[in-house]
Amino acid sequence: MDKRKLRQINKLENRLKGKSRKSAYVIESMLIKFVYGLISYLISIGLFFIFLPVNAVILVLLYLRESLTGKSVFTEKTVFGIHGKPLKVKYYNIVNDKLNKLSLIYYVLTGEIDLVGVSIREYSSEERQLGESYLLDSNPGLISLWFIRQASRTAYEGRFNTEWEFTYKRNPVYDLMLLLKGLPALLYSGGNSEFEQKVNLIGIDFDNKTMNQAVEDIDKAVKTDKKITIYYVNPDCFNKMYSDKDYYSIIKNNDIVYPDGIGVHIACKMLGTPLKENINGTDMFPYIRDLAIENSYRIYLLGGKPGVADQMKRKLESDFPGLNICGTADGYFDRSHSREIVTAINESKAEILFVAFGAPLQEKWINDYRDKINANVVLGVGGLFDFYSERIERAPRWLREIGMEWSYRLYKEPGRMWRRYIIGNPLFLLRVLDWKHRMRGRDGSR
Ligand code: UDP
Repeated sequence: MDKRKLRQINKLENRLKGKSRKSAYVIESMLIKFVYGLISYLISIGLFFIFLPVNAVILVLLYLRESLTGKSVFTEKTVFGIHGKPLKVKYYNIVNDKLNKLSLIYYVLTGEIDLVGVSIREYSSEERQLGESYLLDSNPGLISLWFIRQASRTAYEGRFNTEWEFTYKRNPVYDLMLLLKGLPALLYSGGNSEFEQKVNLIGIDFDNKTMNQAVEDIDKAVKTDKKITIYYVNPDCFNKMYSDKDYYSIIKNNDIVYPDGIGVHIACKMLGTPLKENINGTDMFPYIRDLAIENSYRIYLLGGKPGVADQMKRKLESDFPGLNICGTADGYFDRSHSREIVTAINESKAEILFVAFGAPLQEKWINDYRDKINANVVLGVGGLFDFYSERIERAPRWLREIGMEWSYRLYKEPGRMWRRYIIGNPLFLLRVLDWKHRMRGRDGSR
């Protein structure tokens, strides 16, 4: 177990033993706990009545099916319950990943499962790892941080770390916020069971990978001295591809294309081919940065307004002393000087090059010069430098977790973003529906 995790565990241990800062006590005062308990109980009752008609219909149908086919109404599982004790729960015996869990509302009412808690896990008596007992002893909840992050495809840290973060941070206010985030997550969730390796959306093949796998590919490319080029595609990019055939063909013919944003995720779900994770440049950057620090890889930053890449370099090198940003250049150079820029990149011996001109400028430029650029990994990353230089503030994580990062960008730059989001997002979804319809017409099977 790494040192950071051990430090976190010690902190949590101290807090549980009552040694933590006073503020923790304030927030966990009896009054707040009481109010939270009351609110969550009222919400549980509310949920029970909201879902009562659906539950009633499901039960009637399942009993009917049982009388006709003999197939049981429930499937029973033993899960970790309150204080980590085994708890037998009954799920509806249906394939749908969401509907089968509706029976769990009953256990929330009886207090056997909390409304908010760690995710519900099957019980096993295996020996517990260091730190895991806290997770298992925390009560399971109908809504968990893991569920929310999975739903928005931002669960990059993996289950253990996410549950751990929840256990560490939780207090009544945090739980209440999680409850609110859980509602939109319900809309995005589901479809986790089977993933295709490649997912095709409007003719573009996405690599259906997790963040860890995507970062591993970068590491492998540098270590084996292979060249790869990475593009990210969001709904706005798709809209641009409709009127820009060159851009479309560059994306279509590139080996690695990742799905960026909740819009693409919803579209792929609509087509019945869900994506594993939302892999965009901005979320991926910290992982590449850590990889670069660990392996002493050199990074070059090309793009953004004059001074932005420099500012990002200064900031990163002061926050992460081991990081080697071997060169920077802004993205407003005279394009007839591109060869000089390529020479500068090659002379810096960069292994990883970030190009941030926005789509489709960056993709076209990369496509024109990729052969001459020696860096193993080249990525087109749009507005990434604006965020990491802190020129523009990025949406807080809770907004990203509910799939609303776009609303924050709209709020920050309404003049530039309104067309992209207010018109672009619905237009994109209409195009997806149209494409789905045409594909169905073509092969009669989808
Ligand atoms: N940009 C650039 N050169 C140009 C035009 C734009 O370097 O000729 C930069 C611009 O300063 C901004 C980024 O490209 O930092 C585009 O950001 P945007 O948010 O539009 O990109 P997205 O992430 O949405 O693709």
